[in-house]
Amino acid sequence: MSSNLEQDILSRRTFAIISHPDAGKTTITEKLLYFGGAIRDAGTVKAKKTGKFATSDWMEIEKQRGISVTSSVMQFDYDGRRVNILDTPGHSDFSEDTYRTLMAVDSAVMVVDAAKGIEAQTLKLFKVCRMRGIPIFTFINKLDRQGKEPLELMEELEEVLGIESYAMNWPIGMGKEFLGIYDRYNKRIEQFRTEEDERFLPIDEDGELAVEHEMKKTSYYTQAMEDIMLLNEAGNDFSAERVTRGELTPVFFGSALTNFGVQTFLETYLNFAPTPQPRLTEDEQIIDPLDKDFSGFVFKIQANMNPAHRDRIAFVRIVSGEFERGMNMTLSRTNKSFKVTQSTQFLADDRETVDKAVAGDIIGLYDTGNYQIGDTVVGGKKTFQFERLPQFTPELFMKVTAKNVMKSKHFHKGILQLVQEGAIQYYKTLHTEEVILGAVGQLQFEVFEHRMKAEYNVDVRMEPMGSKIARWIQNEADVKESMTGPRSMLVHDRYENLVFLFENEFAMRWFQDKNENIDLYSLL
Ligand code: GDP
Repeated sequence: MSSNLEQDILSRRTFAIISHPDAGKTTITEKLLYFGGAIRDAGTVKAKKTGKFATSDWMEIEKQRGISVTSSVMQFDYDGRRVNILDTPGHSDFSEDTYRTLMAVDSAVMVVDAAKGIEAQTLKLFKVCRMRGIPIFTFINKLDRQGKEPLELMEELEEVLGIESYAMNWPIGMGKEFLGIYDRYNKRIEQFRTEEDERFLPIDEDGELAVEHEMKKTSYYTQAMEDIMLLNEAGNDFSAERVTRGELTPVFFGSALTNFGVQTFLETYLNFAPTPQPRLTEDEQIIDPLDKDFSGFVFKIQANMNPAHRDRIAFVRIVSGEFERGMNMTLSRTNKSFKVTQSTQFLADDRETVDKAVAGDIIGLYDTGNYQIGDTVVGGKKTFQFERLPQFTPELFMKVTAKNVMKSKHFHKGILQLVQEGAIQYYKTLHTEEVILGAVGQLQFEVFEHRMKAEYNVDVRMEPMGSKIARWIQNEADVKESMTGPRSMLVHDRYENLVFLFENEFAMRWFQDKNENIDLYSLL
């Protein structure tokens, strides 16, 4: 491998920002892009995120949701690194794709609202990152507003998430009295709302502010110093190695809206963020990013991104080597080779053609129905399959039928393909074999309904079953059909495994009390 290519690969930093809606993910992304020079005006991204969506027309969803749907990957250069930020849609955009995106990154940034602490969606996404053991960096946002006490937030991280934390900086005051942050890592104080040239104040060997300053006389400063002393004595030690293993999360405080603490965060983060990581194949070979042959896997398929073409795009995370337009690739599942002439990369919502990309980058391949989620593509002679992407426990269910019984064949074909592609999960009732679809987010149903009409010309009838708790069974042989009931429905998944769909937590506990011998488990 040429040393240029090697350098290119090692310059990549690929991550996702995870958060609960409204914590400030869009705002922080915008600031990062702004620092990276990818957008001229730090209001651009925001402006595209408009209104509520009211129609289930996919093109309309695209138009209205703007950046959260279309610009799935944003790229910029900073300080000799090429940064790839992958979007993880939330709210009603939340879907299995959101989880799968986390399979394609090397680290994650978790944005937490200081007033709200750890919220539901953050917790879900965090668990997926934790399962992969990827490094997680925490940005506690909105310090310009009154929020929870910083020590309380640190405790919450450790208790709710079960991860150890290390405060890289510490707020001095908060809300109206927010004075700045004590930067433990860079050993300086960064002042809030000051002129650029006065922003940083030095600290001395004892860790105290080294210059005469108003701030020193405030109770906020005294409080911050007390907290820091406590952290120094009783808190965790910083260990870059443990950060890399995902065991310790470095915590930063700031205010994205006022652009405070974001640049310091970015610079510190880039010092620790991992370069592209190796991946395992199904037969446990390690594929190193610096392997000379191109390889990658499909982690997301997006339909109809371009309304004029009704095309689909398969998002590929490059694991090793280099991609060049016009190159030959083999799809491992089918062993078919093809020449890639059409490929795109994504920045804001302008898609542009990519001619070259390397390990760590994401490319989009035009797809006419050839790819499935988890597919491996390779450039060399040797084919292999990357480890299967995990299946996620769905939470929402729908019964679905074709409105016109004459269309039954198309109906089943459409479902089969969309399920294989990874758009939605398939279940069926035991004897009657009624089709039940499972999803982690409502959007998946809307996309399903739309695509059944647009691509298979089938109108479907969807009957919501609401949310359920799905549990698989270790000892299927011990399950009796008498155990099934309206609150604990027994179904088959697409692999013919038995699955209980419980009405709620209570129904599940009640079931477990009555049937202690049944060993239930959930997927991720
Ligand atoms: P997302 O849903 O996580 O992408 O959150 P947004 O970036 O859209 O932010 C949600 C709301 O919080 C918006 O009204 C932002 O202006 C506001 N916001 C974001 N960051 C901050 C901050 O640092 N301070 C304050 N006061 N508001 C913020």
